[in-house]
Amino acid sequence: MIFFKQLSFLLLFFTFLFPLRAFDIEEMLDGGGLSNGFTHFLRIGIKTGTVSFLVEGDARISDKKERTVGKIQGSATVSAAQEGIRVGGRIFKEDMIKFTSELIPIKVGDRMFRGEIEVYLKNAKLIVVNKLDIEDYVKGVINKEAIPSWPIEAKKTQAVLARTFAVYQKMFNPRSELFDLAPTVLDQVYDGLGKEDVSSVEAVNATKGEIITLGNNPAKIYFHSTCGGTVSSSAEIWKKDEPHLQELHCPYCTKSSLYRWKRNIKAADIAKKLGVKSVKSIKTVRGKTRVDSVVADGKRIPVNKFRELVGFSVIWSNDFTVSKNGSDFVFSGKGAGHGVGVCQWGMAGMANAGKKHYEILKFYLKGIEIRKMY
Ligand SMILES: [Zn+2]
Repeated sequence: MIFFKQLSFLLLFFTFLFPLRAFDIEEMLDGGGLSNGFTHFLRIGIKTGTVSFLVEGDARISDKKERTVGKIQGSATVSAAQEGIRVGGRIFKEDMIKFTSELIPIKVGDRMFRGEIEVYLKNAKLIVVNKLDIEDYVKGVINKEAIPSWPIEAKKTQAVLARTFAVYQKMFNPRSELFDLAPTVLDQVYDGLGKEDVSSVEAVNATKGEIITLGNNPAKIYFHSTCGGTVSSSAEIWKKDEPHLQELHCPYCTKSSLYRWKRNIKAADIAKKLGVKSVKSIKTVRGKTRVDSVVADGKRIPVNKFRELVGFSVIWSNDFTVSKNGSDFVFSGKGAGHGVGVCQWGMAGMANAGKKHYEILKFYLKGIEIRKMY
């Protein structure tokens, strides 16, 4: 038994190691992305730990050896059973099955997905994975991360950012052995193809295979809604210097409704959020460009913790001042988000000013290149 445990550990170890070594990164970035072992598929964990869900479509069911074992036409409930995976009235004695549809996307719950739907049985629960082409994934996410009405060059910028993020996570930081990315803000918000539109498809097609690189690797990229005038360095905000994430002046995000903001909050409400009886004074301790921590009645709280407690969509960014007005605290702030990397409203502003997507990326991310995987 112990031997088998060790063996499965070893196998797991090699499956983790192998994807990183099975292809030459350099060659992949020079256009060999499809030819030398880097698969252009992503696996998104759309449900983890569920006991049942509804699937709908005209799809073939196969096992992990790709043998066809059944089909669905219309809808069926998929659930975890003791002996295997139940689809409608039939039980497949397998720990993994896969739904594939040649013609129409498959519906899971109330969402439509391109590509395949893999279902794994693990500890009496189901893990549902959408396996699809990276390009199709990017079409699904860019309107979740960008405003649909932004100009095409801004969407192209977002497409390259989203693709780079996905490739980086897949290569260096996959969520689990079964899938590369989560469909939430942990990675990038993805709910299938529901958010696709003509311009998101156009933006993805126009930048097909392009990713941002730093040296010979995909770059680790960050973006945020609105910098408010200054993009901050990762060294300041996260105490980790990354060559491409440097401080810079951004004059392009003034159209954002959160370029400047003000919130009046009752002292009693803040006390409640912080879990204390009362708050009489709030001061900020600033780093080079943004607030580093908040001091409430002498107690120091890191700014991100403070924003989390009071609300990320109340205290919109980590760049604000605080004053007192009667029983209220008044927060006057700049921008939205952490302020590192690409300023999204800035990228829309640059696109409106006639800049191309590669110029926008090179403005915000120092020393990067844009290379085509395929
Ligand atoms: Zn900006």
